Amino acid sequence: MEYQVVIGLEIHVQLLTLSKAFCGDNAEYGGMPNTHVSAISLGHPGTLPMHNKVAVDHAIKVGLALNCNIREFNEYARKNYFYADLPKGYQITQDKTPICTGGHVTIRTKDGVEKNVNLTRIHMEEDSGKSMHDQDLTDSLIDYNRAGVALIEIVSEPEMRSAEEAFQFVTEIRKLVRYLGICDGNMEEGSLRCDANISVMPVGSTTFGTKVEVKNMNSITNVRRAIEFETERQIALCEKGETFPSETRSFNALKGITISLRNKELANDYRYFPEPDLPPLVLSEHYIKKIKEEMPALPAELFARLKNELSLTDYDAQVITEDRPTAEYFLEIIKHTSNFKSAANWMMGAIRSYLNEKAIDISAFNKKVAPQKIAALIALIDEGKLSHTAAAQQVFPALAEDSAKEPLEVAESLNIIQSGDESLIDSIVEEALSKFPDKIEEYRSGKKGLLGLFVGEAMKLSKGKADPKKVNEAVTKKLG
Ligand code: ADP
Ligand code: MG
Repeated sequence: MEYQVVIGLEIHVQLLTLSKAFCGDNAEYGGMPNTHVSAISLGHPGTLPMHNKVAVDHAIKVGLALNCNIREFNEYARKNYFYADLPKGYQITQDKTPICTGGHVTIRTKDGVEKNVNLTRIHMEEDSGKSMHDQDLTDSLIDYNRAGVALIEIVSEPEMRSAEEAFQFVTEIRKLVRYLGICDGNMEEGSLRCDANISVMPVGSTTFGTKVEVKNMNSITNVRRAIEFETERQIALCEKGETFPSETRSFNALKGITISLRNKELANDYRYFPEPDLPPLVLSEHYIKKIKEEMPALPAELFARLKNELSLTDYDAQVITEDRPTAEYFLEIIKHTSNFKSAANWMMGAIRSYLNEKAIDISAFNKKVAPQKIAALIALIDEGKLSHTAAAQQVFPALAEDSAKEPLEVAESLNIIQSGDESLIDSIVEEALSKFPDKIEEYRSGKKGLLGLFVGEAMKLSKGKADPKKVNEAVTKKLG
């Protein structure tokens, strides 16, 4: 029998705010343990939580970006449970009134097919503290700095059908929250955390199988690995005719396996009840509209623009919109040139190689080579003053070396400026030759009479304007 995997994701996004969700404690990651903790974080009797406007704005932005309905009347609830990392004995969250409902994430699989994965809800809540079980031989240690940090939880419908789709889903969410500037998207530090709900069913079935929840994947690649392993594990059990419990499992990245943590049948009854200390949060239509107007361009919008208006390929548009600084660099180049294709080629070619080679990011690169300089290089090439090869191999590295230098100045000092004529002929000859790869082989193996064909084609491309003698020389030189 063939099996089909079914996946629904729950993603916790730690919001970039200065203070925590319901009090003024510092929300920064990485402080000395238990230094960002006040009586409010610890829920001491008599303390009162307060709303954090920035956290709410962030949640609204994500919801708008994902086409959700934004709820105007928001209430908070207490989710009660006992655990060492939860000093209050309850978590403030949203139960019946999540701030966002509906909406979807558009994922693009490798073969370029688009699919909308619907969202169940997005709600606001606070983080718990952090237990550390590997810092001391005999004791578990607890850091409450994280307790009360603002989170949103994004819950998808069980609509993904492969580990790859789940991988794309998390990738899109991470890209989006980084674009919006509401989360750093760092999965290793836990600012973005993903739980995967996985079940399998016979292909063609409409009844979902037993759901297993997998936690503790600290990278998007590990989300994919965990789902792949868990799918195989469940299929193997089904094939043996064995049933398995609905449970929570943990991914062990070293071994690439999932391990049982706890059984779902013993799930807590959280005894949700309305949070009595926080007044309902009322968002007016006007307020939501104002936030919408302040939002930056979204990656999906940019992708569509690069593809449809600038005619870039899917792949180029995808890579350029991968993160906001990269997209902004590109957008800045094309403010100064209308040769979009060439701008994209620089991004995908010389610039990318340079970033990889030097292991720096585009923001650091921007400080060395301003986007206008790439536009200036493109202009020099298009005017026939500089060959593309010389621009990429000689001028570009010199610009990266010294941020004070200008392209024309570098090219002049290297003495590689061509008269318009020469390089125009060069490019025409290149284009003419590119039409006859087979004939070039023949020419090289002795059929010298083909020279006339190449020269004729180049003359045709120049609309008869080029000097035939120069074209002849250029062709002979190019063919060695
Ligand atoms: P729980 O109460 O265990 O948290 P929910 O019904 O709230 O379960 O669903 C949580 C997540 O699990 C959602 O992302 C949902 O899409 C997903 N999910 C629900 N049922 C299944 C299933 N049979 N297989 C895979 N994912 C599922
Ligand atoms: Mg759950």
